[in-house]
Order: sequence, then structure tokens, then C-alpha cells
Amino acid sequence: MQEIRADHSETVSMPPFLAQEFVHLYGPGDHEVRSFFAPGRANLIGEHIDYNGGLVMPAAVTLGIAAACRLRSDHLVRLHSSDDPLAVEIDLDRPIEPDPARGWGNYPAGVLRELFLQGVDLKGTDVLFTTTLPQGAGLSSSAAMEVLTAFSFLALAKAPASDLRAIALLCQKAENQFIGVNCGIMDQFAVALGKEDCALLLDCESQEYHYVPVALGAHALVIMNTSRQRRLADSKYNERRAECDAVLQLLGADAPRNGLVHALWSDVLCHVSDPVLRRRARHVISEQVRVEQACRVLAAGDLAAFGRLLTESHASLRDDYEVTGPHLDAIVSAALQTPGCLGARMTGAGFGGCAIALVEQAEIPDFTALVQSAYLAATGLEPAFYVTHAADGVHETTRKG
Ligand code: ADP
Ligand code: MG
Repeated sequence: MQEIRADHSETVSMPPFLAQEFVHLYGPGDHEVRSFFAPGRANLIGEHIDYNGGLVMPAAVTLGIAAACRLRSDHLVRLHSSDDPLAVEIDLDRPIEPDPARGWGNYPAGVLRELFLQGVDLKGTDVLFTTTLPQGAGLSSSAAMEVLTAFSFLALAKAPASDLRAIALLCQKAENQFIGVNCGIMDQFAVALGKEDCALLLDCESQEYHYVPVALGAHALVIMNTSRQRRLADSKYNERRAECDAVLQLLGADAPRNGLVHALWSDVLCHVSDPVLRRRARHVISEQVRVEQACRVLAAGDLAAFGRLLTESHASLRDDYEVTGPHLDAIVSAALQTPGCLGARMTGAGFGGCAIALVEQAEIPDFTALVQSAYLAATGLEPAFYVTHAADGVHETTRKG
């Protein structure tokens, strides 16, 4: 559990234009405009492990969504996003139900419904969201939107969040039930509980977590956006889940009760003859070992070894789990051929979206130029790059005084 300290807001800044844009949009008002920020997340290692009962290692990143909020004197919630022209209005005196016409507004609406069901005294509020996080690129803009909404409305209801884990679970429930996306707990946990220069080592089965220092020193985390939508991700995600279940069935009495990550490779060799299912199991079991190794090498400050683990993880996701696809493979391969890169891998569900690379800071301008031209030549798409590091989770950014 982490308390939000009153002085926490002093350590970060909100985009200076946000308050101005807010007043431009909603006009003057009696109450203070308060601002909040929720980061996106990159899973550093431990991919396709959450639903197999294992350990994942996400970090909150410096990209994220900011919200400017001001109480109203009635029971209306009005929402605008600088990233989407659809204006959203929610009447707190009526039941909040999913509504396709509400578009993106269903993400905050689902969270408001959960808060209401938990007895939070929601107040009429005007909100403006603005973002540096690409949507649908695997950096969890949905979780950022949800956690930001929960955190902001709790603060405005004078019930500030003291249990960020509870917020993460509430937001996951909203995404599962209101949006209908069967996501695990990783994204909302990372967005809520991220910590500067740390990754979260999260046990997806027990929901226990602790922080692992990610001191990058002369290196930075470069997020590489393939600019390729994750088209196959949903159907292949369900297919992989079914394949992991099939392996557990075949293991019979030797199947571990707490997920495929705990299976023994010798048991897989004994019970599973299908070569595809064997490869799926090999990814799950070996990826878990890599997460444990990553903890050790990060604790020892061995970034070169961490980089090698990232690259091995990508190879396993490409060859054994088959969720990378040509775009992620092209950008990772370009990154690995570029000086100053210690390792790279896809992050998120796969089939598009983003990859991460660990890159020497002095080399970053050359790195992005070389990867950009190699990737463009291979795919015809323009990639985008974001230089980042492990950052704090959701927090208030209102400037005091
Ligand atoms: P990801 O979480 O990987 O970014 P998702 O498909 O889960 O992708 O969530 C993306 C959705 O979240 C968008 O389609 C949109 O509805 C909502 N969303 C995220 N960020 C914003 C934003 N800044 N403004 C409006 N809607 C947003
Ligand atoms: Mg999402």
C-alpha cells in the first residue's frame, strides 16, 4: 500500500497549456482546476505470462494522460479529450450503462460506475484529458484513462486514494465488465503503482508485488512504435490461451495447479508430442526463468545481461510463441544491428504496437535515424520513437500557490 503524500504534486509538472485550454473550453468557474496524471506502461519482460500464473515486470513510463478537472454545482460529468472530438456527458442521477454512442467515454464511464457501486460520493465535474500516449499501441492508454479517472474522482470526492492496489483492481473490473475486454491485472497495476527508476515485479496469481530497481545510468529505454495496428492480437491472444489450456490438459496429473509457468519441461516432453504445443509451453516456461534472471541482473546493475534477456525474450516470442509478426521483427532486428543497443523486444500482446530497446543515451540520435530508415525500407511504414525511463504511477500535478 502506498500513501499519496501531500507534497507529491510538487515533483512533477502538468502541461502548462492544460489549465488554459480547460478554461477556454468550459469557461470560468467557482472551483479550483485540479490536474492529475497517469502514465502508460511498458512490460519490460514476462510476456504472455500473466494468464499463465507467472511473474511479469512492467514499468510505468513518462508518456501518459493528463486530466484537468473542476467540480460543478450539479450532478453532470462532462468529458472532453484533446485526442478525440466526441464530447461526453454523464448524468450521475441516472444508472451508468455501457453505450456504444459514448465511444471513448465508456472507459471513464465504466470506472465511474464502479466507484458509484463502491459508495463513493461522486460529484458533478468538468474534465479535459490530454495525452502523450498513442492509443491502441500496446502502451496501455486504456488503463491510464481508467486509473486517472478513478484517482481524480476519488480526490475530488475528498476520499483520496490510499490503496492504489484497490484502484487497479477496480479499473480492471471496469475494463472486463463495462468495456468487455478480458485483460489481466498487469496494466492497471503498473499505471497505478509505478515508481521512478523501478519496475514492478508482479505475481499475476497472488497479486503480490515488489519493486525492482531499474537504474539505467548512461542508457535509456527507447519505445519504438511500429505504427502497425495490432490487428491479429485479439484472435491470436485467445488462440494462445486455448493452447496453454490444452498443454495443461495433456499434462494431466502432472499439471501444476497454479499455472503453466510452474510446469516442468521434462513433464512437457513426456506428455506433449504436438510440436506446436511444445513450443508454446517452452516459451512460457523459459520466459518465466528470464524474468527471474532479469531481477537478478538488474539488482546487480548488469545492463548488458538485461539487454541479452530482452533479446532472448523476443526470439522466444517470435519462434516459439509466434506472436511477433513481420513489423515487430523488422524493428527489433533493425534495433539490434544498431550501435549502442544492448537488447530489444516486442512489448504487449504482439502483432504490431510497440517494441522496446535499451540504448546508450549518447547513441540515441543515430539509433533512431538508423532504425527509422531500416524499418521504413523493410515495411514502408514510418515508426515513432519515445525516449523514456521507468516513472511514477498516477498522481496529482496541481501546482500549489
Ligand atoms: P491500449 O490500451 O493498448 O492503448 P486499447 O484498445 O486497450 O489500447 O485502448 C485504447 C482506447 O482507450 C481508445 O480506443 C480510446 O477509446 C481510449 N483512450 C485512450 N486514450 C485516450 C485519450 N487520450 N482520449 C480518448 N480516448 C482514449
Ligand atoms: Mg488497453
